[in-house]
Amino acid sequence: MRERIASACARSGRDPSSVKLVAVTKGRTPQQVRALLRAGQRDLAENRVQAWRALADEVADAVADEPLRWHLVGHLQRNKVRYCHGFELIHSLDSERLALALEAEGSRQGHVFRTLIQVNVSGEVSKYGVEPAQAEDLLGVVGGLEHVRVEGLMTMAPYHDDAERARPVFSSLRVLAERTELAELSMGMSGDLEVAVEEGATLVRVGTALFEP
Ligand SMILES: *Cc1c(COP(=O)(O)O)cnc(C)c1O
Repeated sequence: MRERIASACARSGRDPSSVKLVAVTKGRTPQQVRALLRAGQRDLAENRVQAWRALADEVADAVADEPLRWHLVGHLQRNKVRYCHGFELIHSLDSERLALALEAEGSRQGHVFRTLIQVNVSGEVSKYGVEPAQAEDLLGVVGGLEHVRVEGLMTMAPYHDDAERARPVFSSLRVLAERTELAELSMGMSGDLEVAVEEGATLVRVGTALFEP
């Protein structure tokens, strides 16, 4: 996987260290996750808070050198925000109401939540995320909050056999991030990560390609 990222970086004149590999562990066993940790992987992601709590408990003792960095990549319900201070980064901020719930929780716990705004670039009804035109409004709201910080944008491209079909989605997200002066771009999964890296991804979220070689 690191080689795939490195060659996409070489093609686009980027430094491989500017792309972080986030391993999506949803549906995997603790044994599978431990194997990944032995290979040196430290950034992990789950898409559901409940499943994350169970898995994080099971593998917590697996590494001693460096703490695990857990990311949340799935839709977050407001009644779960109290569990979320353990996440390094929440990739799925998708509403003002969620931002306000995180603010209230952060203020209670003295914690600042690091987030990315999830943008539904493709307009697929099955996808979470704000419309591109709403991202700046949400950014405006969060700008007034003390316990929520937006560091970038996240998107999921529609599934397609031909990864090139994802390119316009990824480049639109990059343009939006440039306009809003946000540094992080979470885009690219098992099937389309090269295209995402070529279009500027700083975080790629990979499950299948890591666990099912
Ligand atoms: C499952 C998941 C991924 C990883 O998808 P793969 O195709 O298995 O690499 C990435 N992002 C999100 C939000 C996911 O839910």
